[in-house]
Amino acid sequence: METKQFKAESKRLLDLMINSIYTNKEIFLRELISNASDAIDKLYYQSLTDNNLNLYREDLEIKLSIDKEKRTLTIEDNGCGMDKQELESNLGTIAQSGSFIFKKENEKKEDVDIIGQFGVGFYSAFMVAKKIEVISKKMGEEKAYMWTSSGADGYTIEETQKEKVGTQITLYLKDNTEEENYDEFLEDYRIQEIVRKYSDYIRYPIKMAVTRKSLKEGTKDEYEDKVEIETLNSMIPLWKKKKQDITEEEYNSFYMNKFGDYEAPIKVIHASIEGGINYSMLLYIPSHLPYDYYTKDYEKGLQLYSNGVLIMDKCPDLLPDYFGFVKGLVDSPDVSLNISREMLQHDRQLKTIAKNIEKKIKTELESMLKNVRQKYEEFFNIFGMQLKYGCYNDFGMNKENLKDLILFYSSTTKNLTTFKEYVERAKENQDKIYYACGETIDKIDLLPQVQGVKGKGYEILYLTENIDEFVLKVLLEYDKKKFTNVSSDSLDLESEEEKEALKKANEENKDMFEWMKTEIKDVQEVRFTHKLKDHPVCLSSEGEISTEMEKVLNSMPNNQNVKARMILEINENHPIAQKLKDLYINDKETLKKYSKILYNGARLIEGLTIENPTEFNNSICELISK
Ligand code: ADP
Repeated sequence: METKQFKAESKRLLDLMINSIYTNKEIFLRELISNASDAIDKLYYQSLTDNNLNLYREDLEIKLSIDKEKRTLTIEDNGCGMDKQELESNLGTIAQSGSFIFKKENEKKEDVDIIGQFGVGFYSAFMVAKKIEVISKKMGEEKAYMWTSSGADGYTIEETQKEKVGTQITLYLKDNTEEENYDEFLEDYRIQEIVRKYSDYIRYPIKMAVTRKSLKEGTKDEYEDKVEIETLNSMIPLWKKKKQDITEEEYNSFYMNKFGDYEAPIKVIHASIEGGINYSMLLYIPSHLPYDYYTKDYEKGLQLYSNGVLIMDKCPDLLPDYFGFVKGLVDSPDVSLNISREMLQHDRQLKTIAKNIEKKIKTELESMLKNVRQKYEEFFNIFGMQLKYGCYNDFGMNKENLKDLILFYSSTTKNLTTFKEYVERAKENQDKIYYACGETIDKIDLLPQVQGVKGKGYEILYLTENIDEFVLKVLLEYDKKKFTNVSSDSLDLESEEEKEALKKANEENKDMFEWMKTEIKDVQEVRFTHKLKDHPVCLSSEGEISTEMEKVLNSMPNNQNVKARMILEINENHPIAQKLKDLYINDKETLKKYSKILYNGARLIEGLTIENPTEFNNSICELISK
């Protein structure tokens, strides 16, 4: 018989398992039981739509048995089973399993870690077994097959006999060593303990022959061993248990197992609602972005159960897009078992449930923001972008819902802040919320306009993501305070006298500015300003499109070549102002050059490109050489 080799990635995981020094080896049982339960689910699910499958819910079970002589532990299910091809592809390779992806992402992490953190599946059995035999018969097939492997050498598959449909996995336990005693997995009390610990919620009975001492009949103090078949698990799904009876570890390991994550979630939301519609929800906010989140492969959705029976694995209608990162499940006895996908979409009850889920997630986030700020910021750093998109998308339909969950960096607190907090700190009579855009916090902090507005004692929000300014444009205002870009021309920060003085200065130099504008070409206007503190120049934008938006819009694939209406503003209190005036009278040729230098310099400050960097640099060098 031919021995086949494991696929490369599988082999690595396998080696890891075989040589595992992990102390929590017992989790192998959780993995095998969970596979067995999935297999039964699959079959049961099929039977709901296939009338030829005469299946009785009561018959579905997982059986464990121990043979102390042979030192074997057997896990048997009457689930869907596997044919030859499936044995080959499911057990010969783990290419599809989440653990594979994990290995790639976190190549450097301690190998030992993964075993503890992540459901590693079938292969974990090699932590305790030197040889594994899988005998399986698939529903609807005549033939049964046996897959055998002693680990590293590969595996074989051969035809065999099996009466009933399902899978039987026999583990030949490793020999005991000085450090490790594998015999513990031959003790029924130990197996019972492990099942209760990890698999209590499994919905099918996990049965085992258990030896109990009992009083010998007719005697008062003589005992005998009696063998009884016991069901080891309570079969109450985790989400149907009372909150106070569930440990954090149980919540987390349930999540990691079920949703294939290697890290504990950042937040668990568990609630049961009774009333018009009855349902329980068990929701999780992951502690990192799913690796495929921004690809089209990512499907949002919650598992949907009807009274403990899975009816849909990813029901997208239960989550709004902006909470698409939430994982979890909903169980409602009021949702019909036989409902089709198409009908689900129009189901009124489901819509109500979805609405409540959305509300619940929102309130939980709000309370996190209020009570565990650091954790919320952690969350926001991971998923904040989703909330921002949520605000912006659909023409801001959900903005009212989400605006209080959004954070931006504040020039005052030097930390993330909410709009509400900003407003609470705002000056009396301040009718604007100021913001500035740029690549990084540090770069924004250096912008001349920012320094000017900050110098006047105002707080500024720093926007560093492409989407940010669009979000504020959609929001328009918060608490009647208009969002205002510090680079816009309508800051309105001066007193009436200051305004008057500036107006006068601009009037007096009107001709010069007109002339400069014509020479520079790309600006709408050139003028003096008082908003720059010590800096000589800046570019401001007029109207709806800011320079930052120009950058973002033009970097998009359907680039429409939009242009912000830009104004070159020159600090009237800077020595450069006088110099320009002198040149306008005495040396227009030089003024022409300087105007361009000023304009291009201002573009660079804004993070915009300049048309002819060579010319720009040459002009500066010429100046230096003078
Ligand atoms: P995972 O469960 O994460 O997919 P595993 O390595 O545990 O990874 O299992 C691989 C695949 O083998 C499963 O997805 C399933 O299709 C199949 N499988 C495992 N155990 C059983 C079983 N008892 N009955 C039927 N199929 C099984």
